[in-house]
Amino acid sequence: MSEYRHQPLTDQWILIAGNRETRPSDYVQHDSTLANHNCPFCVGNESETPKSILTFSDSESSPWCVRVFENKYPALTSTPNEPRQSLGPYESFHGFGRHELIVLSPRHVESFSELSPAERRLSLLAFQKRLIEAYEDPSIQHAVVFQNCRLDAGASIQHVHCQLMGTTLVPPQVEHQAQRQADYRRQQGRSLLHELVATEQDSGQRTVAETDHLTAFCPFASRQPYEVWIAPKSPDETDSFFDLSDSLLDELSELIQQAVVRLENVLPQVAYNTIVHLPPKTADWREQRGTWYTEIFPRINKTAGFEWATGCMINQVPPEVAAHRLRENSPSS
Ligand SMILES: [Zn+2]
Repeated sequence: MSEYRHQPLTDQWILIAGNRETRPSDYVQHDSTLANHNCPFCVGNESETPKSILTFSDSESSPWCVRVFENKYPALTSTPNEPRQSLGPYESFHGFGRHELIVLSPRHVESFSELSPAERRLSLLAFQKRLIEAYEDPSIQHAVVFQNCRLDAGASIQHVHCQLMGTTLVPPQVEHQAQRQADYRRQQGRSLLHELVATEQDSGQRTVAETDHLTAFCPFASRQPYEVWIAPKSPDETDSFFDLSDSLLDELSELIQQAVVRLENVLPQVAYNTIVHLPPKTADWREQRGTWYTEIFPRINKTAGFEWATGCMINQVPPEVAAHRLRENSPSS
């Protein structure tokens, strides 16, 4: 069983999860063309994973197109909540929560860029459905869906998949961001994200791609080279992530895929994380607008001494240059 431990000097929560030391990794074999009889995420190997929580199917040729199940090696488990323990300045409690896996294709492919239109569309629908289910759980205070693609991004299985982690606490970074958003809205009457996207739209310098309702851009203070955020063009007027229509989810999946293809055109085989950022649960979580965005975070720079010491990242590619290169490397180029 995992355990949250609090570091009082930095106010950070660390999840100690010793059970994950024994989880399998298929990254010893880098050749994705090898027959993957051993891949637990490939269609036909469902018995090697916990039973399905949710499946979506798009054709009769495969029993499923997108599949969700509990993580066999969870960092968080659905055990009963227990009171916090304390020892001197230290606090800890058991790692209660949700940890699910979402397999984005029955085929043994690695990246979001390789998904078919149906697979990417149904993947986003699965994210939304599982996030709603997590937020409806009274004990869950925050949930996130993320993808670790390739070894340097934290993947242990090559087959394209995402994870959902729902926590009984609001992680301090998420809480800090929500507080800044709330303060800004109180003072200015609109969301900080709305202001930020409007500034990017006016400038256009860091814009990478757009669809009818969404924009993809390299943020002004990008932490990594080629970091991309995707947000609604009018965050305060667009539904919460939980209430996005199927067509807007499809648009989002298209723009994520387009951004990843551009990134891989610039840097083939780059490791990256994709993260769907949502606010902490509030009484009006289902309706809250102006808060969600998606991030594609390439793992190019290693976190070195200065970054660990200060939390201040050093990025050698200005986001204006990164956006220009990504614009030039369109999916068809
Ligand atoms: Zn596979």
